[in-house]
Parts: sequence; structure tokens; C-alpha cells
Amino acid sequence: MAKSVISKHSTNSELNPRTEEYDFNGPLGALAVTILVPVIVYSLYFGCAEETGGCPPKVQLTFTRVQESLTWSQWLRLWDTEATMIYLVWYGFCVLCWIILPGEWVKGTVLRDGNVKEYKINGLSTFMLAIALSVGSIVKFGPECFTFFYHKWVGLLTAALLMSIVQAIYVYAASFVPGKLLALGGNSGNIIYDFFIGRELNPSIGSFDVMSFNELRPGMILWALMDISMICEQAVRRGGFSKVTDSIWLTAGFQIFYIADALYNEPALFTTIDIITEGFGFMLAVGDLVWVPFVYSTPTRYLVFAPVRLGTYTAALIFGMNFLGYWIFRSANGEKNDFRNGKNPKNLKFLATVTGSKLLTSGWWGVSRHPNYLGDLLMAWAWSLPTGFATPITYFYPLFFTPFLMHRQIRDETKCQKKYGDDWEKYKQLVPYKIIPYVY
Ligand code: NDP
Repeated sequence: MAKSVISKHSTNSELNPRTEEYDFNGPLGALAVTILVPVIVYSLYFGCAEETGGCPPKVQLTFTRVQESLTWSQWLRLWDTEATMIYLVWYGFCVLCWIILPGEWVKGTVLRDGNVKEYKINGLSTFMLAIALSVGSIVKFGPECFTFFYHKWVGLLTAALLMSIVQAIYVYAASFVPGKLLALGGNSGNIIYDFFIGRELNPSIGSFDVMSFNELRPGMILWALMDISMICEQAVRRGGFSKVTDSIWLTAGFQIFYIADALYNEPALFTTIDIITEGFGFMLAVGDLVWVPFVYSTPTRYLVFAPVRLGTYTAALIFGMNFLGYWIFRSANGEKNDFRNGKNPKNLKFLATVTGSKLLTSGWWGVSRHPNYLGDLLMAWAWSLPTGFATPITYFYPLFFTPFLMHRQIRDETKCQKKYGDDWEKYKQLVPYKIIPYVY
């Protein structure tokens, strides 16, 4: 589907220059993250699971104890053939939906070789079909039929991890086929670094774009199904859906709403930095397929074996917090998207800059310099608060996400400072707060 207009005069090295600057502190940092991500995700499970005695585990994790317990059979338990089959069927279902469900083809932005890729928009219908099939079987066969995500958690995690490794190896190897457009940041020549960052910009198999497919479907929709499975497991234990606690309904409801919203806004993906400039390597593969479903559903998994009753007022407060966050997140991103697309329906004030590009100074972008991050953070905390305060482990996501967005904000400001120079200083005077008004 890509319309090839690569200039006949461009040599490969002109089109794909060597990456000179490393991110993540170079190959060593990339290697550390490659190892750390799976370790963190498994630890989140074993550090907060019924079978290890709770959250944190009751087993005393002394060095000798770890040595004793990590027998071969323990290690082999990470592998579960049935879970692997379920995962492969799931992944195959997503691919099949992409092929057969109708969807509009939309154009992405013009890439630096002049190509314009086209993407099929049917993520939302894939999601709706998956939810309809799941809910339909729960209604017909009862919640027992949909608890396998809870019981096969580790096996599914291993399967998703292996899938991300296989994909990362495949796209890295395929990037050496002549004529490929490489990511500016992933062509260092160092195998560890390029494998991690992603060497090819838009790896595809025919018209099937690997990156955009992975970003929104097999991981994101699986996350929603896992949340539904956690509700079913609680329903089985407590004797029906009417006995399911408000906390798990709330967390799962918030997250499923967020997923549906992301899929509803699928075309917005094609103007993101990920799609336009980043390669697809192990970092995105493991992020999409492992991190999103298995880390983000930790609170609902915890609530299965440690149910919490919130009560109307607490639930209403958390509900308000989530939707305040959502409102800020959507309207701030909407104001900027409209403005960057030449529209200003709210007649917001702006600062003209020497670059010709303008900066909003009223509306959400007059409240702080990254109001969209504020919205995202409020939602992240609202997803964990229903788990109560018995353990910090269910707060892993917001505890990781807060410094992550603070760091992203600094990186973005450095970029804007370089681009806008003195005008950025003027903007900072007009809008003094970075993310949270009057606080930060
Ligand atoms: P942003 O949407 O925050 O965009 C930053 C860019 O906006 C700047 O580089 C600048 O680009 C432009 N800009 C800055 N100030 C203004 C202004 N006053 N008026 C107009 N334009 C301005 O980028 P992100 O990709 O970081 O975030 C997008 C969304 O994704 C956010 O909601 C964020 O919270 C979310 N996100 C979620 C993650 C997750 O894991 N859940 C991870 C990362 C992000 P220029 O001027 O050059 O156009």
C-alpha cells in the first residue's frame, strides 16, 4: 500500500545515515533495559500473587531460599504449553480481524523518503468483536469459562515475552533487506542497541504494518480481556457478579474505557512520534505485548485475592478523579491537535514565534506547559487507588509513570528550547508551571 517515490538519486547512506547519538546511555543501557523489563514484569507477579502468599509475598526471600526455590521445575513453570496455545490463538485472532473486518485505509504522514504509508483502521471493531465474544460466552457459560487469564497468568506472560523476542529478531533481520528505510535513531551499527531501539522505521509484511498493529491490538485489547477475566474470577469466588466489589468494577471500567477511547481515536496514532520517527525493535515489541497488558492489569489481578470495598463516597471520589483526568487529557490534546492543524475553535490566545510556529497561551496550555501529562497522571493514580493502601506493589504503574512523564517533560522542553529560543523563555514566563499548576 506504500506509494514508493524514493528518489533515484538518493544513495542508501544519504537516505539512512548512521546514528551518531545514543539514547538510554548507549548499548549498555539498552542491554540493561532489555533484561530489566522482563525481570520487573515477572517480579510484579511473584512479588504480588496468591501462590506466593500475597502482596508482598509471605515467603522470606533470603538468598539461600531463592537458591533453594529456583529449582528447574520452578523455572519450567514459567512455560505453559496451553497458555502458549491460547496466546497464539489470540494473536492469530487479532491478525485475522485485521484482514477480514472492514476498515477505512488512512494515509500516514509523508516519510523522509517521500513514501506515504496507508493503515487499515479496524482496531475498534476488533476490540468490539473480542468483547462481544467474551461477554457472550460469559453470559452463556457463566464466569467460570473466562477465568483462565487469572490462572494462566505466568504462562501467558512467557508466551507474550517470547512473541516479542521473536518479532524483534525478525524485524531486526528483515531490516538488512536492501532498500529498507531505517529509523534515524536505530542505525548505529551496534547490534544490541539497534535490536533494542528498532532498526527499520516501518517494518511491514505486505500492507500489514507491524508497529501500528502491535501498538493497539494484541496487547491493548488483551489488557481489557484480562480485566474482564479478573472480574469473572472474583465473581466465581464470591458467588456471582452481584457480589463483585466496587473497587474491581471501577479499576476495570476505567481501564476498558481508556482502551476503547484509544482505539476509537486510532487515526491519531499515525501522527505520533512512535510511528513517524521511531523504529520497531525489542523496546516497543515488549512494551506493547508484555508491559501494557501484564503490568497495567496488576491492580485488578490483586483485587481478585484481596478484594476491597470502597463505599459510595470513596468510589465517587475516585470516579471523579479518573474522569477529571480523562477530560483534561482529551481536551488538552484536542486543543493542541486542532491548533497544529490550523484550527482554533475556542479562539485561544497564542504567542507567535520567530520559527513561524505558534504556541498556545490560554486554554489548557495556559494552565501548565504539559496539561495533557496532568490528565494522564490523574488517571494512572485513579486506576491504583481502588486497591487501597495495603501494598505499594499495585501502585507500580503510577509510581513509574510519574517520574517517566517528568523526565519526558524535561526532554520535550529541551527540544522546544532549542527550537523556539527566546520565545520559549517568553512562553515560560506566561505559563510558569511545568505540569501541575501551583505545584510543579
Ligand atoms: P505532547 O502532546 O505533549 O507534545 C509536545 C509538543 O507539543 C512539543 O514538542 C511542541 O511541539 C508542542 N507544544 C508544546 N507547547 C505547546 C503550546 N503551548 N502550544 C502548542 N503546541 C505546543 O507529546 P507527547 O507525545 O509526550 O504526549 C502525547 C500524549 O501521550 C499525552 O497525553 C501524554 O500524556 C501521552 N503519553 C502517554 C504515555 C503512556 O505510556 N500512557 C507515554 C507518553 C505519552 P511543536 O511546537 O514542535 O509542535
